[in-house]
Amino acid sequence: MAPQREWLEHDFYKDLGVASDASAEEIKKAYRKLARELHPDANPGDAAAEERFKRVSEAHSVLSDADKRKEYDETRAMFAGGRFRGGGNGFPGGFPGGGGTHYTTSGGADFNIGDLFGGGGGGSEGGGFGDLFEGLFNRGPRGSTATRPKRGNDLETETTLTFRDAAVGTTVPLRVTSPSPCTSCHGSGAKPGTSPRVCPSCNGSGFVSRNQGAFGFSEPCQDCQGTGSRIDDPCSDCDGTGVKVRARTINVRIPAGVEDGQRIRLAGQGEAGRRGAPSGDLYVVVHVSADKVFTRSGNDLKVQLPVSISELVLGATVSVPTLDGSVGVKIPANTADGRTLRVRGRGVPKRSGGAGDLLVTVKVSVPSKLDDAAVEAMRRYAEAEKAGGFDPRAGWGR
Ligand SMILES: [Zn+2]
Ligand SMILES: [Zn+2]
Repeated sequence: MAPQREWLEHDFYKDLGVASDASAEEIKKAYRKLARELHPDANPGDAAAEERFKRVSEAHSVLSDADKRKEYDETRAMFAGGRFRGGGNGFPGGFPGGGGTHYTTSGGADFNIGDLFGGGGGGSEGGGFGDLFEGLFNRGPRGSTATRPKRGNDLETETTLTFRDAAVGTTVPLRVTSPSPCTSCHGSGAKPGTSPRVCPSCNGSGFVSRNQGAFGFSEPCQDCQGTGSRIDDPCSDCDGTGVKVRARTINVRIPAGVEDGQRIRLAGQGEAGRRGAPSGDLYVVVHVSADKVFTRSGNDLKVQLPVSISELVLGATVSVPTLDGSVGVKIPANTADGRTLRVRGRGVPKRSGGAGDLLVTVKVSVPSKLDDAAVEAMRRYAEAEKAGGFDPRAGWGR
């Protein structure tokens, strides 16, 4: 993608109201706020708001993309001061020829700014800008800027936990095979016993600036490929990259209360960056297998408790398992089937301390077979129930 003329004409940072060194997060925040305020739905018929909305959207589309943003910054730095604006005859000199910089034309000779805009004098409205940038950016330094040491990639892996481990927290060893810091050179890329030195050409910045003619240039340092450091003796184990693929075992602490599908971020445990650049992050997707007894609702632990009819009618105290030992749950007399009893603080531990509740739902279990004495007693009970006036279907079904 070639930078557009708009890149010179619009200050995207100003459009978003952020500083030119704003973080990605700040840019995102500023954009969200403005997009909400200026959205056409919120400003029907307001042409100015619509225009600003478009501008803000474009600014965000460039600044939120790290590569585009860099290109934008470089373009603006290169043409700082707006000298490139105007009618095509005010340029105080030819382009520097030869030199090995990336704006050299095929002939390498001087040419007039007027040529760039397709005919000198007056209008600069032609497509000249686009063509020029096309030429500038598709040459040379593109490849080398890409080698500037950058943070390693993020990694994602997964692990499956039992219900109980997920609820109470655990530590799991995870085997990860990924680019890791080279152990011979500790990631520096320099032969053990030596160290990289600061690139004298760019003083470690990775960029050199030049002022030639009207232009202020900032371009990747050719001497260090933009890395800012030089290695005289590369480490032979990693060919000077500082990175080797190897298997590592990471002990991952899983906090209590993790839920199925949740991602845990382990900062700095992703792929190593080249030559000592920061590592990416490792994300662990947690799967939680079902439990025979328990289910969860947030921090509440749910269990279905089988009870007999007589326990519901007469009341009882029943031992119920929890994640941590068991607890005696009192079933009051005359408890309806399906009722849920709450035991405070015996659920899933909370990250903030304390725990959720244990929710015990009673469910009648009817005997498939009773001995004669029990059947006889049940009969007598049924008669007494009827004599007492109990009708389970009183007021029902009419
Ligand atoms: Zn090495
Ligand atoms: Zn350098």
